[in-house]
Amino acid sequence: MSADVELDHVTIAFGNFIAVNDASLKINNGEFFSFLGPSGCGKTTILRTISGFLEPTKGAVRIGGRDMARIGPNKRPTALIFQNLALFPLMTVAENIAYGLRVRGIGKAERRRKANQLLNLIALSDQGDKMVSELSGGQKQRVAIARALAVEPQVLLLDEPLSALDLKLRQHMRNELRAIQQRVGITFIYITHDQGEALTMSDRIAVMNEGVIQQVGDAKSIYDRPATSFVASFVGENNSLIGKVVQVDGGYAQVKTPLGNVTGRNLQNIRIGDSAVAFIRPEKLTQREAANQNRLQTTVKSIAFEGNLSHVYLVGPGHRNLTMTVSREIPLPETGAYIGLHAAIDDTLILPMGKLASE
Ligand code: ATP
Repeated sequence: MSADVELDHVTIAFGNFIAVNDASLKINNGEFFSFLGPSGCGKTTILRTISGFLEPTKGAVRIGGRDMARIGPNKRPTALIFQNLALFPLMTVAENIAYGLRVRGIGKAERRRKANQLLNLIALSDQGDKMVSELSGGQKQRVAIARALAVEPQVLLLDEPLSALDLKLRQHMRNELRAIQQRVGITFIYITHDQGEALTMSDRIAVMNEGVIQQVGDAKSIYDRPATSFVASFVGENNSLIGKVVQVDGGYAQVKTPLGNVTGRNLQNIRIGDSAVAFIRPEKLTQREAANQNRLQTTVKSIAFEGNLSHVYLVGPGHRNLTMTVSREIPLPETGAYIGLHAAIDDTLILPMGKLASE
């Protein structure tokens, strides 16, 4: 069985410090949902509140429509996997997996049956008798998942479970985790500061900063239509040009920046005189000397060849740094060259000035 999870105006304070500020969202039944944000933004605090280790200061958490107020962690239909996995090193793999069942007084035959079924699920069916200490990092990861699933939670909560693994294994485990989630069909709530993980695995993502949910959406909408300057600068690479809005026309706005006037889509109804940021993804910048709008004059600082793509680092007036990615078939400019860049207005997004992720 699987369940949905609802946060209804949840605020979590530690003394005067507000770690999570008025968070409202609904995570659907069977969804792979991630909270993504920088260290300290409140992700773990939300997870601890869903699992019952913390009570919200204000608002309600509902799981499967049921208010969880004063229901302790053991009584909730959730299981939590910690960053450090917390496996028992002196037990076998099968004993680790069956641990929660033993605590609940389930008999030996049933424990064995369930452990075998889960060993199968995590593709370790012949490793049940090994000691946990003999396993690789990725295998331990899978055992932690199986152990959490053994008690048949309706919602599995995962607190940066891949952070201890090396890069290659981490990327492999993303696919594994997603595949396991699809096989068991329950709700997974995943927290991470790694946008690659969130974008590749999740059905939907909540991007957080400083205790506030900035945007909830699928990977594509968060990348293509970021709702705030924080999301635009935190998710993926982006060039940000700051200035004042000088013209608004239909769904477009023009910002006067140190590199010249830049026009882009105005999805947030900003007005003349507002402080704003023009965002342009590096892959949307091209070298073009004769563009009659969105033409940015810059000098090439350095070029990093990365196989199929190269990163070109540029600097413009006011020491504004820009990055352009150039695919292999396009000739690269020379380092030190003074070149004109262009971005189509539909590839430029104008957002109200707010916090940027690099600040
Ligand atoms: P990380 O990725 O580093 O774990 P996070 O996004 O999960 O970060 P949280 O652990 O949720 O962040 O912490 C959010 C904020 O709340 C931080 O500023 C943290 O210092 C603060 N905080 C968390 N727990 C407590 C506590 N028990 N008492 C006081 N402050 C706390």
